Amino acid sequence: MPVSTPTRRNAAKLAARVAAGESSLGRARRVGRMLRALAAAYPDAHCELDFTTPLELAVATILSAQCTDKRVNEVTPALFARYPTALDYARADRAGLEELIRPTGFFRNKATSLIGLGAAVVERHDGVLPATLDELVKLPGIGRKTANVILGNAFGIPGITVDTHFGRLVRRWGWTGEEDPVKVEHAVGELVPKRDWTMVSHYVIFHGRRVCHARKPACGVCTLAADCPAFGTGPTEPAQAAALVKGPEAARLLALAGFDPDPAEGSGGAA
Ligand code: SF4
Repeated sequence: MPVSTPTRRNAAKLAARVAAGESSLGRARRVGRMLRALAAAYPDAHCELDFTTPLELAVATILSAQCTDKRVNEVTPALFARYPTALDYARADRAGLEELIRPTGFFRNKATSLIGLGAAVVERHDGVLPATLDELVKLPGIGRKTANVILGNAFGIPGITVDTHFGRLVRRWGWTGEEDPVKVEHAVGELVPKRDWTMVSHYVIFHGRRVCHARKPACGVCTLAADCPAFGTGPTEPAQAAALVKGPEAARLLALAGFDPDPAEGSGGAA
């Protein structure tokens, strides 16, 4: 069913209500509706880094700092083939490792992290990446965000991954006003059932990359519009907004929003 976009007056009312301090029940219901809309929009949302083992995901996540997932995925097949185990990273020839990961940027720091990670996993965990937050965050190159990515996607243990994009979006949507990533993680964890923690991380990032861009979000064709206090941050006119939607699922997202890209043959515009 196509989504409906709010009138400017309704959007302003919602924004005022959220700014004034929404009731916790009201916020929980609104977040629940937004989650259902995100699940419908991104049924196959997933970690966009390629990996087959927890160690590979840890390595890919370290490389993804200040780099696109696409670029990381271009680099990792050769890297994973050459360094299949933690011991291989621990014993890596630095120059050779740096050369392989150079396209991801900050390659000297990243090589230091990967060599340190390999050595620590070998020394402390017999070469096997541990599956707890406490142990993961003690490893070189792995902060809380990376640990939650690994737990949620490689070990199936629910984790909310808060990076700058996730924080920006959930603040924009009025899910929390917190700035500190750990506080954001806890605030969202209260709003979202634990079983959905990993998926909510994917939904938010998917929507941010495709529709809710930092500078010019595609509000006029957004599936969250009716529950978003920031509706109107970007263009609300459907054709203008549709041009901003990115990614291979753009046509499906626009159809979900009721937008007809060829008004000559249909009704046109968002419902
Ligand atoms: S695109 Fe606009 S309406 Fe949609 S979530 Fe972002 S700010 Fe809200």
